[in-house]
Amino acid sequence: MKKKFETNAIRSQVPRSQHREHSVPIFATSSFVFDDAEQGRMLFADEIEGNIYSRFSNPNNDEFISKLCLLENTEDGIATASGMAAMFISMAAFLSAGDHIVASRSVFGSTHQVITRLFPRWNISHTYVDLDKPETWEAAIRPETKMLFLETPSNPGLAIADLGFAGELAAKHGILLNVDNCFATPYLQNPAAYGAHLVTHSATKFIDGQGRVIGGAVLGSKELIKEVRFLARHSGPAMSPFNGWILSKSLETLAVRMDRHCATALELASRLQEHEQVVWVRYPFLESHPGYHLARTQMRHGGGLFTFELTGGQARAKRFLDALQMLSLTANLGDTRTIVTHPATTTHSKLTDAERTAVGITPGLIRVSAGLEHPSDILADIEQAIEKSAEG
Ligand SMILES: *Cc1c(COP(=O)(O)O)cnc(C)c1O
Repeated sequence: MKKKFETNAIRSQVPRSQHREHSVPIFATSSFVFDDAEQGRMLFADEIEGNIYSRFSNPNNDEFISKLCLLENTEDGIATASGMAAMFISMAAFLSAGDHIVASRSVFGSTHQVITRLFPRWNISHTYVDLDKPETWEAAIRPETKMLFLETPSNPGLAIADLGFAGELAAKHGILLNVDNCFATPYLQNPAAYGAHLVTHSATKFIDGQGRVIGGAVLGSKELIKEVRFLARHSGPAMSPFNGWILSKSLETLAVRMDRHCATALELASRLQEHEQVVWVRYPFLESHPGYHLARTQMRHGGGLFTFELTGGQARAKRFLDALQMLSLTANLGDTRTIVTHPATTTHSKLTDAERTAVGITPGLIRVSAGLEHPSDILADIEQAIEKSAEG
C-alpha cells in the first residue's frame, strides 16, 4: 500500500550498515573506493550505478533527494549547494544562445538577476509576465521559447499562479514548465501533479526550517534530470554531505512544522486584518486575497508567510521594525523563529522602483515569516511594536 506523506518523510532511509545504526550516519568522504580496476572502469562508463566522488553523488545527498522525490512525486532529482544553484542549473541545463524564457515578474530577487542581467550575456532572452494574469502568458511564448518559469506563492507579493493552466499551456506549446516550490514545500503543493516538468527548491527555507544550512534541489523525470546532472557534475554546485544529512532529517518533521507555521500565519493575519492601524493584510487563505479560491484548490494550507502594511508607509514600517523586541530582523524565512523583513530596502532593494511596483512591493510592505513560537507571544510583540511606532 502506498504510504502517506508523513510516513515517507520519516521511513525512507539509506540501508543500515553493519553497525545497525537507527539514525543514518554522515558520509563525510570526498571519494569512494573501487573493489578492483574493472569496477572503476564500469562506474565511469555508466555500466553500473554507484558512488565515485562526492561532487557527483553521496549517500546523504541521495537519501535527501530520493525522499524529496517521493514527497513531490517525481522520478529523479539532484541536490545542490543552494537554492540559487538549483534555480540556475535547472534553467541553464535547457537554455542555449538564441533561446527565450517566459518567467513571472515576481520571482525571487536573485532569480530575477540571473534572468535579467546574466542570461542576456549568453544571448538568452526573456519576457516577464504577471503571475496572476494567466490570460497574458500565451502571447509571450515565441517559437524560440524553451521554458516557462513560475514561483507560487510569490515572494513577497504572495500572488498565486494557476498551476493547472500553466501545465496545460506548457504541454500545448511543447515547452518546459519549471516551478520554484520553495514557499509551499512538497507538503502544501505538488507542481508535478499539474504538469510541471521541473520542480525547484531552496531547501534553506522551510525544508531545513531551523535556519542552519543553505541547500537546494532540482526534481523531474529521469530524462530531464540526466541533463541537469551532466551540468552539475562538470560545473560543481554539489551539496555538502553534512547539509544533505541535516536536510534529510529536517524532512522528517516538515509536515508537523508546516501545519503549525500555517496555522500561526493564518491566525496572525486574521488578527491584524482587524487592527485599525493596518491598511491591508495579504495571506493566500484569507478571503480578501485575490487568489483565495485558486489557493484553496491547489494548496493544502495557506503557507507560513503573510504581508501587511501599516498606516504611515515606509517611515512607519522602519519604526515598527526597530520597535520589535523578540521577532528577528533578518533576510531569511521559514525558520522556527518568526522573521520580519522590509523587502523594499533589503531583499528586493536591487530592483528598480518600477520593477518593485510591478510586483506589488509597496514602500511600506512588511513581510512576516511565522515561526514556531507561541502565537500569542508573536502577536504581543507585533502589537506593542505597532503601538510604539505610531508615536514617532
Ligand atoms: C531563498 C529563495 C531562493 C534561493 O535560495 P538560496 O538557498 O538562498 O540560494 C529561491 N527561491 C525562493 C522562492 C527563495 O525564497
